Amino acid sequence: MSLAELETSGVRPSLVGLTRAGLADALASIGVPEREIRMRVNQLWHWIYFQGVSDFDRMTNVAKALRAKLSEHFSLARPEVVAEQVSSDGTRKWLIRLAPTGKDKPAEIECVYIPESDRGTLCVSSQVGCTLTCTFCHTGTQKLVRNLTSQEIVQQLVVARDRIGDFPGLTAPTDGLLPSGEGVRAVSNIVFMGMGEPLYNFDNVRDAIGVMSDGDGLSLSKRRITVSTSGVVPQIPTLGEEAGTMLAISLHAVRDDLRNTLVPLNKKYNIRDLLEACRNYPGLSNARRITFEYVMLKGVNDSPAEARELVRLLKGIPAKINLIPFNPWPGTKYECSDWDVIEKFSDIVFNAGYASPVRTPRGRDILAACGQLKSETEKVRARARLMMEAEEQAQG
Ligand code: SAH
Ligand code: SF4
Repeated sequence: MSLAELETSGVRPSLVGLTRAGLADALASIGVPEREIRMRVNQLWHWIYFQGVSDFDRMTNVAKALRAKLSEHFSLARPEVVAEQVSSDGTRKWLIRLAPTGKDKPAEIECVYIPESDRGTLCVSSQVGCTLTCTFCHTGTQKLVRNLTSQEIVQQLVVARDRIGDFPGLTAPTDGLLPSGEGVRAVSNIVFMGMGEPLYNFDNVRDAIGVMSDGDGLSLSKRRITVSTSGVVPQIPTLGEEAGTMLAISLHAVRDDLRNTLVPLNKKYNIRDLLEACRNYPGLSNARRITFEYVMLKGVNDSPAEARELVRLLKGIPAKINLIPFNPWPGTKYECSDWDVIEKFSDIVFNAGYASPVRTPRGRDILAACGQLKSETEKVRARARLMMEAEEQAQG
């Protein structure tokens, strides 16, 4: 629904999550003179994204008459959190109901927050469902309901920061965990690894990243934002040029015949073309590596020969390799590789010079780890951990 349609429907549209251009349109629609718009957008930006306010009356440097007009036409509402679950390991999962958009039924998405001692990672969704049909993925069995708007993508971060008390004046919850290091932000990293294929909703993902990384507002470094793709090759250079984030590739197989079944998009863009796009990813360097995700499927892709082939394929690409134990879901035909097999695979990758953390599922008790939603890294070995840390320090 457009702003005008929403207004006639009696719902006051929320300004939270809009881009600067979106805010400018909103202001113009209520008659704010053109010459004032830039200044007013800057004011709103500060209050919405830096201060996190949810009441126009707190915008003390905005004239009272304009505040009244704003609240007559707009709101600062966040999407509804239908359920919040906190895992015993501190992971939080929110079920978020999006505002209805015209004819669509209200859609629900999950958003997961994974705290560690020195960082807090938010896993966001880019679509409701997915058009792709990766055979090991739970989201792949759901039809695509719709793309999220850039506003809805940004709202996931705002909801998370509300809930963990990460705007000025809010208090942090007493349950769960928060990262504790000096100067560490509660949400320090974002991964587009929730529902959906972000590169099939590129414009909205790019615009959302623009809002999330804006230094006057939410202010997340682009080096701490990672977009994960199953391999939409033509959009990879565009992501680098227009969004400038870190890139993660869901590789999962080292041969085209197997990848064709696991990630059917491979039939369109094969491994060679995918790796070529990776080699040319703008800004790639040893300090800005591509993450290759590899889900460990028992007896399918987990042999030592495949580990060696993986290392050979990635030669020359500044890379990190993330081994992900498969999270089973009802009805799946796959099983997770046995732990000793994962260790062996990881050893081969590690001995070839890659940090090879195995992602230990987080939030299993609240099903935040299952299928489509996954977690940050926990490292198998002290050495691997040290390598990662050294690398992160190098990245700043
Ligand atoms: N569509 C994008 C991003 C969302 S999926 C992509 O495919 O990259 C995020 C990650 O979770 C991907 O690496 C995906 O392959 C992985 N994944 C999906 N289902 C999984 C499962 N059941 N167990 C473990 N990882 C899974
Ligand atoms: Fe879609 Fe990613 Fe799941 Fe594949 S792995 S079905 S691209 S969400």
